[in-house]
Amino acid sequence: ISADGRSLSRGPYSRIEPADLLVFADIIGQNHVITDQFEVFAANTDWPRDCRGQGGHVLRPGCAEEVSVILRHCQKRRIAVVPQGGNTGLAGGGVPVFDELVLSLSRMNRVLEIDAVAGTVVAEAGCVLADLDSHLSEHGLTVPLDLAAKGSCQIGGNLSTNAGGICVLRYGSLRGSVRGLEVALANGELIDCGRVNEHESRLVQLMIGSEGTLGVLTKVTLACPPRPANVRLVLIGCDSFQSVLHLFSAARSTLAETLSAFEIMDAATMSAVSDNLKLNCPLSGSSEFFALVETASCNASGSNDAGKLDRFLECLVSLNHESAGSIDAVISNDSRQFGVIWALRERAFEALVADCGPAGGYMQFDASVSDRLDMQRLVLATRAEFGQLDCVIRVAGFGHLGDGNLHLVVTADPAGAAGCGLWPRVEAFVYGWLSRRRGSISAEHGLGWKRSAYLGHCKSPTAVSVMAGIKRLLDPQGILNPYKVLPPSALSY
Ligand code: FAD
Repeated sequence: ISADGRSLSRGPYSRIEPADLLVFADIIGQNHVITDQFEVFAANTDWPRDCRGQGGHVLRPGCAEEVSVILRHCQKRRIAVVPQGGNTGLAGGGVPVFDELVLSLSRMNRVLEIDAVAGTVVAEAGCVLADLDSHLSEHGLTVPLDLAAKGSCQIGGNLSTNAGGICVLRYGSLRGSVRGLEVALANGELIDCGRVNEHESRLVQLMIGSEGTLGVLTKVTLACPPRPANVRLVLIGCDSFQSVLHLFSAARSTLAETLSAFEIMDAATMSAVSDNLKLNCPLSGSSEFFALVETASCNASGSNDAGKLDRFLECLVSLNHESAGSIDAVISNDSRQFGVIWALRERAFEALVADCGPAGGYMQFDASVSDRLDMQRLVLATRAEFGQLDCVIRVAGFGHLGDGNLHLVVTADPAGAAGCGLWPRVEAFVYGWLSRRRGSISAEHGLGWKRSAYLGHCKSPTAVSVMAGIKRLLDPQGILNPYKVLPPSALSY
């Protein structure tokens, strides 16, 4: 029985024997076969601390060839393997469910080549996103991805989840920037899934977002945009979601290519940030919604950008007149202040989880919708359905307005929630609501373990069986990240 109450049988996998450990030690060296209980415990526990496996071993290969030989052995012995990057995933995809072997990419963290003329980087999959970005900064380039977990997540994990983050609005989905990918298949074969400049390699696209179920990414080639030289940030408080949507339209038309992020939080989220993390919002009044608008450009003088920002601020002022002065804003072009303002949004999830702790005290959703108004409708509908229950503390929403991605979080007293069967009810309600509105149950965090059972809410039975067919073709023994992405009923080995 898993932490979320689902029952599941362990698959037909071999247990790891002392003889296997000797083989692994031979491949990567005894030091990198980890059995220390604290390290193994950490590798079995996901970032929100609500998914916990019982694996007893972690391997840390140092290169793609070692990954390849390890997988060849695991395939031969039918040992189940969980590829693990920075372990910041929010869908329970990067940790074992039972006693799977954890294959950590953390030692494979070399930046192999930066071509400043072509604007490309080749790096091992275990490079931490922030480190990769700092290497690129020396060449005037940046990674076309930014998210709050950048100090720990790895580029291989980012591609395996097709991470979204705050600058999708500017650079598009990460998959569009991938120019090459080296992958170790379940049988250990290393394949080059796309050469530089092969923009639309189908194999590359198949591997991106596959959450470690189709192969282990070992090396990536990314196209990297020039690093912005001029960044500004505006934090706006609004009285209604409609005003937020007006501002979003205004931002798109006035800020044009300089618009790099448009993030939103509701008042419930902001109050969790101030109650639980003691971070203060610099806006004075009480607002229902908050928008963080970032502009970035490579124009060092910033003169052209300032004109664009002025036009956006004029829209803000006229909207403020129309809504009787209920809009409030602060503008910053001081990089020291950016961190303070961004922390309000980047630490939103951490603040909400702190309402009641991770063990049974919250449920988070990663919904995507096409009608932006649905982002608010879903929060309101969930609040109307559950907000009055004694055990519920908060129903809050925040997310990336630019790509219609809402993170809905419900927090509750764990004992009360268990007593009234709250979490299965919330889950059924939200997934049912999304299914009726043709939304998706997973926008950017992946399906992992947490959402695998609910895939049918956003994919037809035929689509699920096509996904299962691809999995069987690439991983006939099902050793790569079992129990994740697909519902157990879709695969039988
Ligand atoms: P892990 O958590 O280690 O693994 C995630 C999945 O990828 C697992 O299924 C794992 O098996 C697989 N995997 C990892 N590495 C490999 C590899 N080399 N080959 C094959 N499979 C692999 N996500 C967003 O999209 N947008 C956000 O804005 C965002 N904000 C976040 C903020 C916070 C504070 C936190 C904690 C997380 C956030 N996330 C966000 C989620 C998370 O950071 C991303 O999903 C990230 O891409 C995961 O990378 P990772 O290296 O930590 O992968």
